[in-house]
Amino acid sequence: MSLKITTKLVEESNISSFDPENIVFGRVFTDHMFSCDFRNNQWQDFRIEPFGKIPLSPTLSALHYGQAIFEGMKAVKNDDGVITLFRPLENLARLNRSAERMCMPQLPEEIFMQALQKLLILDKEWIPAKRGSSLYIRPFMFAIDDFLGVKPSENYCFMIYACPVSSYYSQPLKVRIEEKYTRASKGGVGAAKCAGNYAAAMYPTKLAQKDGFDQVLWTDGEQHQYLEETGTSNVFVITEDTIYTPQLNDSLLAGITRDSIIKLLRSQGKNVIEKQISVKELIQWHEKGELREMFVSGTAATVTNIEMFSYMDKKYPVNATGNLLSTEIVNAFNDMKTLITPDKFDWITILQESKMVHQ
Ligand SMILES: *Cc1c(COP(=O)(O)O)cnc(C)c1O
Repeated sequence: MSLKITTKLVEESNISSFDPENIVFGRVFTDHMFSCDFRNNQWQDFRIEPFGKIPLSPTLSALHYGQAIFEGMKAVKNDDGVITLFRPLENLARLNRSAERMCMPQLPEEIFMQALQKLLILDKEWIPAKRGSSLYIRPFMFAIDDFLGVKPSENYCFMIYACPVSSYYSQPLKVRIEEKYTRASKGGVGAAKCAGNYAAAMYPTKLAQKDGFDQVLWTDGEQHQYLEETGTSNVFVITEDTIYTPQLNDSLLAGITRDSIIKLLRSQGKNVIEKQISVKELIQWHEKGELREMFVSGTAATVTNIEMFSYMDKKYPVNATGNLLSTEIVNAFNDMKTLITPDKFDWITILQESKMVHQ
């Protein structure tokens, strides 16, 4: 089915304000954005318009009660100008899982994919071709009822905008293992990519940053004993012969980068274990000299090493130089996304003028 998308183009592109050599994350947006509304139980009014402000009622539940979810994905352009997306249907599947948890409507695949295709082709000049740079894409959905009430809204808006980005972190991270605050609890909404989770994390993160850390490394909400993840990224711990990552649960966001790393490393015959990782165990590995490397993974953060973690005011340095597994992984993903290596996992979607195709 071909979606009818009403398109209103910018009068003049803003692209001259964009310097690909000097990109600041999240400050410059492409010329256009996609929107559609869910009204009378139906997605409708598909439109692409110049990026800009949107008229909203002050009553809407997204603002008061937090019915708002989002996704983050990237488009990459290779030296031949070919544009690819990495596992976009996984983002849609997760958007729809988040929607279910927040009592919001499901978004059909044809809307998601056709909106992406049309918007990205229109704004393709904005996708940086430099290795490591990309177009960050932000699909999101929020409630737009124009009356007040603590109940699921009837009307929603789904939108997509995009911004060119280089890497999110330029340095390895210093993280503090959290002992007091909780990002997400058992039975809560930590596994949904919903807006409130990030607001909840801001205060403890601010405290950690005041003490010189980049991020909080969250622990389980009950005992603060088991590693969970950092702000917007999953975490991996590498010992002499094994790669560990916390097993998924309902207070942990199931990262697509996390899943891709596990599959990639297992395909190389490496031993990857998903399990509960206690802080005690991490410190034991450190003390025995078995801890080789730690990194976080996410679409925005890509794969970034941790050079130090702290627990109970004690600092533990971690190697973040030399031959790193994180570098191997980033290179492998970049090679896949730019079609240098074959797509043996079926993860790459090539963007074409007429339609999306699998490689
Ligand atoms: C988005 C996100 C991640 C990473 O997910 P990816 O699909 O790899 O981008 C991890 N943790 C949290 C809390 C997130 O919001």
